[in-house]
Amino acid sequence: MAKRDYYEVLGVNRSAAEDEIKKAYRKLAIKYHPDKNQGDKEAEEKFKEAAEAYEVLSNADKKARYDRHGHQGLEGYGNGGGMNMDDIFSQFSDIFGGGGSPFGDMFGGGGRQQMRKGTNLRIKLKLTLEEVAEGVEKKIKVKRFVACEGCKGTGAKNGTAFKTCPTCNGTGQIRRVVNTMLGQMMSATTCPTCNGAGKSVAERCDSVCGGKDGIKQLEEVISVKVPAGVEEGMQLSMGGKGNFPPGGGIAGDLLIAIEEEEHESLKREGKNVHYDLYINFVDAALGTVLDVPTIGGKARINVDAGTQSGKILRLKGKGIKELNGYGIGDQLIHVNIWTPKQLTKEEKSLLEKLKSSPNFSPNPEKSEKSFMEKMKEYFQ
Ligand SMILES: [Zn+2]
Ligand SMILES: [Zn+2]
Repeated sequence: MAKRDYYEVLGVNRSAAEDEIKKAYRKLAIKYHPDKNQGDKEAEEKFKEAAEAYEVLSNADKKARYDRHGHQGLEGYGNGGGMNMDDIFSQFSDIFGGGGSPFGDMFGGGGRQQMRKGTNLRIKLKLTLEEVAEGVEKKIKVKRFVACEGCKGTGAKNGTAFKTCPTCNGTGQIRRVVNTMLGQMMSATTCPTCNGAGKSVAERCDSVCGGKDGIKQLEEVISVKVPAGVEEGMQLSMGGKGNFPPGGGIAGDLLIAIEEEEHESLKREGKNVHYDLYINFVDAALGTVLDVPTIGGKARINVDAGTQSGKILRLKGKGIKELNGYGIGDQLIHVNIWTPKQLTKEEKSLLEKLKSSPNFSPNPEKSEKSFMEKMKEYFQ
């Protein structure tokens, strides 16, 4: 998408004074601030766009380049990838005054009490091709922190022995007046003593956690349902199966990275599996019936008389179930005709005899598809 003109983004004209640019940006930043537009992707984009425009137009040097050469003038100026949220928030101390970013707390007023989330746990899970093809339920051992049952993860005796937080008097926030460009504003920040809870521990838990942090370590067997069709590098996430945070909150997630074990004779490619079949040229010439390995078993196949090397046979539905639950892949059998690497005298003389026979000289028909054509046919 082409970048919009920075003046247009901020809604000011090209002769706008520094002050006017600042004002325009401040209005947009308030309007599109993520705290007011939670989960609204469009607002977030607008917020970033405005921040980038302001970043350029508030800097005399960058502004001059932009005025002269447009967006191109800023290439190689570290402006290509837009700005990330940290950059944007650090910009705010300049725009709104006050240290750091009291900005985030100015909205909502009620002192957002943040639910603390524990850390995520990461494990790897190796799966066989059979498990990938059909899906599987795996039991895995996980060592994680859970809430102490004596205090329900709070660290306070019986989970009830609290007192009003002395720092914030139970409100969970610290209010102060900050001077900003808009004039004086009331800023409310989360109370650092109680993390916004408004209460602190009066009597410590005397159960397993010893009143320390409300958590205990546990080795747990967790059952993971792996859907069919997963691939190496994919990650499954189980909400709430990570670590419980010290001092109360909600548990993090368990993140399971999928690894595929190599199959001894089948190769997976998306929903299909491939098998390299080697037959001697006598079987290829006369035709034969043989067994080939499949996922979780084997299948009997017919090799027609006169089969050429490079032919691909298809076992329909013998591949991998698709992740979305619809459809299943095939097994593709690539026929390779084995050429002997060493021969006895007798074998040699037999072959010599056959060599001059008219049916032994290659005579491909027009209808025989080339390797590339076959690939096209099978992989579209
Ligand atoms: Zn407090
Ligand atoms: Zn406890």
